[in-house]
Amino acid sequence: MQTKMLINGQLQAGTGEALAVLNPATGDVLVKIAEAGTEQIQQAVNAASAAFPGWSRTTPKDRATVLLAIADRVEQHGDELAKLESLNCGKPYPAARNDEIPAIADVFRFFAGATRCLHGSAANEFLPGHTSMIRRDPLGVIASIAPWNYPLMMAAWKLGPALAAGNTVVIKPSEITPLTTLRFAELIADLLPAGVLNVVHGRGHSVGAPLVESNPVRMISLTGSIATGQKMLEVAARTLKRTHLELGGKAPVIVFDDANLDEVVAGIRTFGFYNAGQDCTAACRIYAHSKIYDKLVADLSSAVATIQMGSQEQAGVELGPLVSAAQRDRVAGFIERASSQKHIEIATGGKVGSGSGFFFQPTVVAGARQTDEIVRKEVFGPVVSVTRFDDTEQAIGWANDSDYGLASSVWTGNVGRAMKVSAELQYGCTWVNTHFMLVSEMPHGGLKQSGYGKDMSMYGLEDYTAVRHVMIKH
Ligand code: NAD
Repeated sequence: MQTKMLINGQLQAGTGEALAVLNPATGDVLVKIAEAGTEQIQQAVNAASAAFPGWSRTTPKDRATVLLAIADRVEQHGDELAKLESLNCGKPYPAARNDEIPAIADVFRFFAGATRCLHGSAANEFLPGHTSMIRRDPLGVIASIAPWNYPLMMAAWKLGPALAAGNTVVIKPSEITPLTTLRFAELIADLLPAGVLNVVHGRGHSVGAPLVESNPVRMISLTGSIATGQKMLEVAARTLKRTHLELGGKAPVIVFDDANLDEVVAGIRTFGFYNAGQDCTAACRIYAHSKIYDKLVADLSSAVATIQMGSQEQAGVELGPLVSAAQRDRVAGFIERASSQKHIEIATGGKVGSGSGFFFQPTVVAGARQTDEIVRKEVFGPVVSVTRFDDTEQAIGWANDSDYGLASSVWTGNVGRAMKVSAELQYGCTWVNTHFMLVSEMPHGGLKQSGYGKDMSMYGLEDYTAVRHVMIKH
């Protein structure tokens, strides 16, 4: 197992404390990996800083060639990377292999093309005798901080646009799930000049904090919790670094009485429980019209009860464990508190799984009210709540009555209603009659406390550049 970090083109063992990396399906220690020492963090940032002038002056075509080679390498090692990801995160192997690896390769390919198509607005003479032009230039060293739910995919979302734009990067994967990012760095090290990509391993307070504080870092890109986002903003308030924050979500799913209920049930069964619900876009906060509420709860509960829970390589497994004991206990806490309310019914699931792994049953919480914790807070587990609504305005109002603003969906057979509701929802993304679908060409990012800045798409690439004006007197 590759446990070394990539710093200035060299693989290095950390000099800090050794951290246990677990298999969530068993609770067993897979390996212990030493986190970066203070001097190694500085070395990584210095290497990225030194590599910036050279990398930023490469042509888009040359950077595209490298990104395409990275995508090929990911595909060539797809089985191995998927195995590591599923082992470390607990997710079913087929999901890692068939969903995530192709999506990761595609992100690098998209940004390879996108960097060759990045244009400023047309040059013009806005002052007689002077020609103005717009440049979009890279920023410098990016500190990228990734979460544990999709470790390599989140790394790809950050590295693709940052490198394509001509920046250099120091990335820190989550200390819980570092395995694929460490192996990825080893696999692609020969494709990049030394220092362009550096990977440091470790915890938020001991490695992430000094990394983002470090002087040459020009931009902090975080995918993580609101609390960590707030810490990044404290750093930014002192240093005026640029920030790019992809924080949590609590996606509303509005189901009207004219929706195709079979499709709704199948959709929520998939999109509410994918990755054990540890997904910031998970279809977790359902608002069902009163005319179809009872049927939806009944059908959904029956469907969710059939979700097969198990370990990574078990045949037919659809739902893995939570990533850690702490995450499982957090989910269990939400259900315990919800169950103590008289109006709430745990329609299916609701219990911790047996064995030493961090399993929690797929759960439907019916009868939830807008003011309930289960409706308002991000659970980040295999739990969906269902709330009854009576009219369109109430559904839109409740959906928008949230601290979060990342993803949402509307299920209806009426196009006009779909258009109206989509227009009024305050979310970075609204799907109609589906949920969760992402493509590299379209932006992903939030409003409100879900953060700001876009991943993927041309908007994502632009986020990693500065707009500059050059004026020439003639
Ligand atoms: P987290 O905020 O605890 O950790 C995220 C990363 O930040 C980790 O690498 C962690 O080590 C690091 N970190 C923590 N404190 C830090 C500090 N002071 N300085 C620098 N780095 C620090 O979040 P998590 O538990 O790993 O991830 C789950 C959260 O991420 C959920 O809230 C989820 O919704 C969110 N998420 C959002 C998106 C999105 O696109 N919006 C995608 C995936 C996950």
